[in-house]
Amino acid sequence: MSSIADVIIIGGGIHGTSLAFHLAQRQVQVLLLEKQFVGVGATGRSSGLVRMHYGTEMDSRLAWESFQYFRDWKNRVGGECGFTRTGFIQIVANQAQAALRASVAMQQKIGIPTFLVTADDVKRLAPTFLTDDFEFAAYEPESGYAMPSDAANALMNAARERGARLVQNCAVTGIQVANGKVAGVETTQGNFSAPVVVNAAGPWAGHLNAMVGLDVPYNTWRHDTMFVVRPPEISIAHPTVIDFAHDMYYRPEGHLTLVGLEDNNPLGESPDNDTDHARPGFVERAIDRICERIPAMKDGGLHSAHGGYDGITPDQHALLGAAGPDGFYLDCGHSGTGFKTAPAIGLCMSELILDGQAKTVDIAPFSPNRFVTGKLIKGNYNHMWK
Ligand SMILES: Cc1cc2nc3c(=O)[nH]c(=O)nc-3n(C[C@H](O)[C@H](O)[C@H](O)COP(=O)(O)OP(=O)(O)OC[C@H]3O[C@@H](n4cnc5c(N)ncnc54)[C@H](O)[C@@H]3O)c2cc1C
Repeated sequence: MSSIADVIIIGGGIHGTSLAFHLAQRQVQVLLLEKQFVGVGATGRSSGLVRMHYGTEMDSRLAWESFQYFRDWKNRVGGECGFTRTGFIQIVANQAQAALRASVAMQQKIGIPTFLVTADDVKRLAPTFLTDDFEFAAYEPESGYAMPSDAANALMNAARERGARLVQNCAVTGIQVANGKVAGVETTQGNFSAPVVVNAAGPWAGHLNAMVGLDVPYNTWRHDTMFVVRPPEISIAHPTVIDFAHDMYYRPEGHLTLVGLEDNNPLGESPDNDTDHARPGFVERAIDRICERIPAMKDGGLHSAHGGYDGITPDQHALLGAAGPDGFYLDCGHSGTGFKTAPAIGLCMSELILDGQAKTVDIAPFSPNRFVTGKLIKGNYNHMWK
């Protein structure tokens, strides 16, 4: 194997593999280095929600561009991404109605199929839900969820078919810099040279940034999820929901419902901690919470629960762009919401690296430099992971 590439990507999650695919489509010699195996990190733990509802236009645009991949995966990428259309409902407390309306109007301008619905409409879409605590919601009939590990593996396979190389069980241990420019990387399998190195190491990306002395605010974010076996009364799958009113989201998967909570997600833990089990107390809280919205779930059964880590930034938006020595790029810090946007972000990052600017969606606001200029990203909602 040649140890020289045009671009080295560190990390085989959904972002590293999406970028590898888009660079390989443009005949770039890509080398992706993964310390374990494709999809082992945040991607493998992701809940896989695919929706376009955001409080910022650029996020909605990235999600909408990405949606074109999810719904036409076989033709655009090949293989499987497991996209399942369930319809998506965004529930908000009444105090956030203005933000909901503004977000839906913004998305409709983009061309996203979404509209405001009443609580009664939600009851018709999901008869087992209690709907007496909110007046309006947003509904995206075409959205749903996908299988993140399948998607990452499909992107990597498609990249390899176009000439990209993948080395697994290969941890990057150092980044070589000469005269202010990136020269390559040191790994547990030897050294590899390239003039461009991309940090797509998810929750581990802070370690890689430190290797080049790059000081951008970066943290880890822990998130637990549980699968419940739905009781017979809810045998028909319900839509996928983000429920700001209850700091929670849920989606169906066969006879199961996946539940995640938006509060009590600790920052700053090691991403190497145990993720095979949820933290003590999580399951009890999640069961109480889902029963507040879907009382019939009290007769459901626990199927499984586990955890995961993602990289997160102070404004809970990704770091996309050049930073540190020449040739060093960041595609990390996706802050618990980066699966659904990965296809378009990989395309935009390939445009940025090869053409100097992304043209599909303007990703300049995600520049790591925003923490120096103070231009942090803000949306219509105040809602953040807690
Ligand atoms: C529990 C959970 C649920 C989520 N649910 C959703 C959701 O419903 N919808 C959504 O859009 N987003 C969701 N997200 C967020 C989304 O999954 C992440 O933003 C996304 O998967 C991040 O992908 P990534 O490629 O940046 O990171 P990762 O998937 O973590 O990939 C990084 C890779 O880098 C590798 N690596 C690290 N260090 C090195 C090194 N030194 N050398 C070589 N390789 C290295 C790791 O092994 C890893 O495979 C969720 C996240 C979590 C944790």
